[in-house]
Amino acid sequence: MGFPQSFIDDLRMQADILQVVQEYVSLRKSGATYKGLCPFHSEKSPSFHVNPEKGFFHCFGCGVGGDVFKFLELHEKVAFPDAVRMIAQKVGVSVPEEAEGASDDGRNDAKIREALLKVHEVAAAYYRGQL
Ligand code: ZN
Repeated sequence: MGFPQSFIDDLRMQADILQVVQEYVSLRKSGATYKGLCPFHSEKSPSFHVNPEKGFFHCFGCGVGGDVFKFLELHEKVAFPDAVRMIAQKVGVSVPEEAEGASDDGRNDAKIREALLKVHEVAAAYYRGQL
């Protein structure tokens, strides 16, 4: 899965599940939890609960539930790593694997250049040895 478990745990703690869910579902405070109409099945009375303290959601109507990552996986229909990236972006932390993954910020190009340079050095040293 690419991500260290400690990173996932930290991110889960930093992410405000209430805020994330509320971008999609309007919630109303109900005791210790918040409830609203479930986005995953059609219903007229709210059985979708979010517990911000424990960091999970659960629907008593259709049985879906999980943490903040699971919510995005289901709602945005993305894979777990993408859900992690989306949350990381919201929270404002960088995803560890991006250092060697995505090339959209140019860091990867620098790495490739560095690697190419190394190859040239080795080749140059080899040819010098031949002469
Ligand atoms: Zn439901």
